[in-house]
Amino acid sequence: MVLAVQIERNGGPEEMKLVQVQVGAPGKGEVRVRHHAIGLNFIDVYQRSGLYQLPLPLQLGMEAAGVVEAVGDGVDHLKEGDRVAYATNPPGSYSEARVMPATFVCKLPDAISFETGAAMMLKGMTAQYLLKKAKPVEGLNPGDHVLFHAAAGGVGLIACQWARALGLRLIATAGSEEKCQLALANGADVAINYRTEDFAKRVHEITGGEGVKVVYDSVGKDTWEGSLQCLRRFGLMVSFGNASGPVPPFAPAALAAKSLYVTRQTLFAHLSSRQACQAMADDLFDVVASGEVKIHIEQRFALADVQEAHRALEARKTTGSSILLP
Ligand code: NDP
Repeated sequence: MVLAVQIERNGGPEEMKLVQVQVGAPGKGEVRVRHHAIGLNFIDVYQRSGLYQLPLPLQLGMEAAGVVEAVGDGVDHLKEGDRVAYATNPPGSYSEARVMPATFVCKLPDAISFETGAAMMLKGMTAQYLLKKAKPVEGLNPGDHVLFHAAAGGVGLIACQWARALGLRLIATAGSEEKCQLALANGADVAINYRTEDFAKRVHEITGGEGVKVVYDSVGKDTWEGSLQCLRRFGLMVSFGNASGPVPPFAPAALAAKSLYVTRQTLFAHLSSRQACQAMADDLFDVVASGEVKIHIEQRFALADVQEAHRALEARKTTGSSILLP
């Protein structure tokens, strides 16, 4: 038996309960992983609240690092004792150990600690596909302006550094002066406090009225309108989250004046195969090992304090990555 965080019904943080669950032997294509550190992600909030509907009861958590304890038939890229990290469906990483499909479990390079692995797989592979795969039709080149909302958060701080490494001029938004300073210290060109300033107006000033080639928007409801205003002609709106609530319905005609493009992206579409996952993970491991991207673990919580961790994340009190320790 191991401890795991489970919800019986959707709702607030108080719905998360620590329960004892059975962890058996891995079946075909599966491994059993003993967790050393667990990543906290905003998607966990959507799954807990019910914004993203999953069958109940539900064990939460999409990201962790640890050691392979047992390997099922048909798994040839992992063996017992391997240090690993992962970001994957189905949820269940908020636990001391679990059995899971091996497909998206990657060996963790020796130079990367369990805590860093747990703090970076989901957020880092997200930053990877956002900056390298979700491209505007006119291409994305060094010197181009992009706008990244919630830039002092988990995905955000990684994206700031990675964008700098790619030569992009990232305009950050964040919810306080301290968060703006953090984004700037991590490679953002300019940072806008979008709780006190009109970010669309500032973006037009910064870009000489032209606008940005891409907006990366994980805030959703509160930033949608302003984000569209920030784009230049043929610009790309990459919607990838809903921290403030889902994007309201909109008329395609709203895109006409600037012939804008809109896409709604998810990491799990990019993790389409073992090879695709490993290539994205290797790219991430490289920038972390080289020091181009540092993983900032700014909050650590005991697994038993998971309710407190969710409250902090939802109250916008966290910066960078947060981990749970089993
Ligand atoms: P963060 O650490 O970035 O936390 C979310 C941040 O959103 C907050 O810190 C806050 O920053 C900002 N925010 C703005 N409005 C609100 C609001 N009303 N309530 C709460 N937060 C708000 O989380 P993650 O790094 O885990 O994820 C970032 C975003 O990216 C999330 O929306 C997540 O769902 C999305 N995501 C999407 C993926 C995909 O593939 N589609 C994969 C991974 C993440 P501030 O105070 O600066 O505004």
